[in-house]
Amino acid sequence: MTRKQASQYQRLSSLIGTQPTSNEYCFTAVVVGSGYGASVMAARLSPFFPNGQLVVLERGQEYQPGDFPTYLKQAVHALKTPITPLGLFDFKLTSDLDVLVANGLGGGSLINAGVVLAPAPSVFEQKSEGKPVWPRRLTASQLTPFYRQVRQMLAVEKYYDHHDVAVVRRHDPQLEGSWLFGKEPKAHTCTSYTLTDFRGQTIYQRSPLAKGQLFRHTVKSWASHHQRRSWVAKAPIAVNLTQHHGSLNAQGIRQFKCNLCGDCVTGCNRGAKNSLTMNYLPLAKARGAEIFSQVEVTHIRPSDQPDYRYLIQATSRYLENNQLKQKKLVIYCNLLVLGAGVLGTQQILLRSAATNYMRFSQRLGKNLSGNADAIAFTSAHKAFSGSVGSGNSIIQITILVPLLPISPNFLIHLSNVLFLKKVLFHHHSCHFCII
Ligand SMILES: Cc1cc2nc3c(=O)[nH]c(=O)nc-3n(C[C@H](O)[C@H](O)[C@H](O)COP(=O)(O)OP(=O)(O)OC[C@H]3O[C@@H](n4cnc5c(N)ncnc54)[C@H](O)[C@@H]3O)c2cc1C
Repeated sequence: MTRKQASQYQRLSSLIGTQPTSNEYCFTAVVVGSGYGASVMAARLSPFFPNGQLVVLERGQEYQPGDFPTYLKQAVHALKTPITPLGLFDFKLTSDLDVLVANGLGGGSLINAGVVLAPAPSVFEQKSEGKPVWPRRLTASQLTPFYRQVRQMLAVEKYYDHHDVAVVRRHDPQLEGSWLFGKEPKAHTCTSYTLTDFRGQTIYQRSPLAKGQLFRHTVKSWASHHQRRSWVAKAPIAVNLTQHHGSLNAQGIRQFKCNLCGDCVTGCNRGAKNSLTMNYLPLAKARGAEIFSQVEVTHIRPSDQPDYRYLIQATSRYLENNQLKQKKLVIYCNLLVLGAGVLGTQQILLRSAATNYMRFSQRLGKNLSGNADAIAFTSAHKAFSGSVGSGNSIIQITILVPLLPISPNFLIHLSNVLFLKKVLFHHHSCHFCII
């Protein structure tokens, strides 16, 4: 994907408040943010409103394949700071919790690993001081149809190789709802339907990824050292591995097959990652939602206009003569959805509470946790792991294999479920296991 090709992607969002005339706007519904929470709401609510009456307000800028940083220097420039408020990577470093979130249209989906795992049913049975932690009506079985819908929308796949042939022939519950589900038995060169990757290789021709094998080895050693039982499997990921190659996806967006470059966490320049700009956001737009980027909501309060319930204060940012300009906006609406992420939404609520127009629970902003997620590195492996993104050139990877027999590092993402006395490891876009 070149930048020239990237410019052919139709923009989903526009700017608001760039004209000197007005700084007051009225809409029926406003969705703040554009990560998973907000985009799903925008897509599902938009059919209930006339065209242009449901709007999405996103503080970051729009990124399409080709817009993301490719080199380390570009990535450093993409940090969000007071001088660069439109930077993609928003690091929040505090005394006891460091957080990375994305600042862009599509939220975390732009920079995350895209692993789409449904929580274990036992999550919803957790108790604290004898009382259920989750609302009683929220159970795994209630959520099952929605998991299917999400897998379908995010077009979840798994990176299968020839070792997986036996597994692929069975229906996989982690793919239930995805387009791949039920097609696996046909993924055979002798049948009419063959699933091939970007190299044109079928599952029978595909070799296991080096990092996947290292992951398996590392996890098995760790489990045996700690006398734990382990289970390793391929992770379901929202990445177009075998479906579209230059064709349009279900929402009419052109996609290309993943070339295993490993750049998912700095943003997919290939158009292979199924970020929200590939699915829920185009769906919301097609259903009449208007999407505005570079608009940061600062405060909310009850409206001073009888026809509207809420008054939103926001800052619009845009370039004028190569200079970043800011403009204060006032937006009125009747339905307000705050989907600005855990930190973004709380910031808006806490700021609004400080103005005395709004009152919220005293517990707002307290007891935050990082879901026990942690990132870990292992080193000094005897084989090259291919853990670090190498850009668009797959050739670079194949050349590096013989040159770098000692892996510099190997990234594992340790994640939650500690309360179940289990540890979930997942390696970026590749494997996961429970120990
Ligand atoms: C590097 C990385 C890897 C990850 N890997 C995985 C993974 O593999 N699998 C997984 O399930 N999860 C993963 N996650 C976590 C996942 O991405 C988040 O849980 C998810 O994005 C949260 O969705 P959200 O809608 O709550 O918030 P976000 O996705 O953070 O979206 C919030 C949006 O609101 C915008 N916003 C914030 N404040 C304002 C404001 N005042 N006005 C307007 N807009 C605002 C933000 O710019 C952002 O676009 C990963 C996260 C990171 C950072």
